[in-house]
Amino acid sequence: MPLTVEIITIGDEILTGHTIDTNAAWLAAELTAAGLSVVFQSSVGDDLDAMEAVFRQAQKRAQIVIATGGLGPTDDDITKRAIVKVFKRNLVYHEQIFEDIKKRYAARGVVLPAINQNQALLPQGAKFFPNKLGSAVGICIAEQGHHFVALPGVPREMKQIFTDEVLPYLRTLEGGQAISIIKLRATGVSESKLAELIQSAVKLEPGVRLGYLPNYGGVDLRILATGVSQSEADQKAVTLAERIEAQCATYVYGRNDDTLERVIGRILEERKMSLAVAESCTGGELGMLITSVPGSSTYFLGGVQAYSNAVKEQLLGVPAELLQSHGAVSEECAIAMAQGVRNLLVSNYALSVAGIAGPDGGSDAKPVGTTWIGLAGPNGAYARHFRFGVDRPTNRTRATAAALELLRRDLLSIV
Ligand code: ATP
Ligand code: MG
Repeated sequence: MPLTVEIITIGDEILTGHTIDTNAAWLAAELTAAGLSVVFQSSVGDDLDAMEAVFRQAQKRAQIVIATGGLGPTDDDITKRAIVKVFKRNLVYHEQIFEDIKKRYAARGVVLPAINQNQALLPQGAKFFPNKLGSAVGICIAEQGHHFVALPGVPREMKQIFTDEVLPYLRTLEGGQAISIIKLRATGVSESKLAELIQSAVKLEPGVRLGYLPNYGGVDLRILATGVSQSEADQKAVTLAERIEAQCATYVYGRNDDTLERVIGRILEERKMSLAVAESCTGGELGMLITSVPGSSTYFLGGVQAYSNAVKEQLLGVPAELLQSHGAVSEECAIAMAQGVRNLLVSNYALSVAGIAGPDGGSDAKPVGTTWIGLAGPNGAYARHFRFGVDRPTNRTRATAAALELLRRDLLSIV
């Protein structure tokens, strides 16, 4: 059985929504990847009684508790006071911690404020984890098979101490099991269709879990396999990944850190082909995503934000009569835009996007969300129709993803 963990994030600013709780998400992912089981997450404000209550509850329901925040030297940082109450210990002064803090300040040429002395105080019997990036050390108390760890709230300090100190410490505890995670990335298919395809052909081995994580660009599949050794866990995860990839070959475009824009970039680079874009309703989002990939300059030439009809006509050469008779959001216009930018920038491939992002501008014939995506390439030009939703930012994101997916399918000859 994996060791159980509760994560507690501390601070009024988390409860009020001023700080987004990235610490909890980051810790949960790291702990899960390390083979531990996160069973609860809690957040609590800078209030001594509330903190005490949450700490006591966590001690009862998880073997390991990891708290972040409230370890600073100021009066609003009271995590240590709550720990002292829960574990009934005195605070003891640690000369070495104080010397380290003094050195850190001296190195920066700054006089140490007197209140920082209290950062050298630790609950009696606690172990401490040094902080390479700040003055608040991590604190660890082990008692009756339970382990309580408190870390500073500043994300980069918390991450450094967790990676360098806490993780090695947790690995020494019994019960850890090997875990392997693979994320498969799919697009152009709904979550339920994907589930149907997979369930009809794939049976999960014991110790393997499969999660569906839909987003606006597609669906991610999260494979989590456990085993007594790392190689056993890896083997189970890879076996399932390969089976799903074979079953859903046209939809799964990559693994883990792969993105559509990276996958397309790799193909274009290999084939020494270039790409240009003409964007209306996405207003540059497509070009931005494509150029977010390092090295994209080898295949991406540039684009035209053809927002007004005048720009579509004058820069891209879309005929005025075409705009008149079919409108800017039409199959004909999307094709003409793609061909136009392909000619203008002399690229092998060109993508175009023309749609009604909303909230206004829709009609019965062309409701908000109506989008045409065009592609011009060595084998000719065509456009596909999409009907997205009513929310403007979502429509733009979905149009961008659909454009990239149209190009991927064309490049791989997927019909
Ligand atoms: P310091 O010595 O800087 O006071 P601390 O341990 O007392 O460190 P906090 O005062 O709780 O930490 O938080 C410091 C800053 O770190 C916050 O202002 C916030 O920007 C960030 N932070 C704290 N908790 C979180 C969290 N759970 N997720 C993301 N950021 C956080
Ligand atoms: Mg603080």
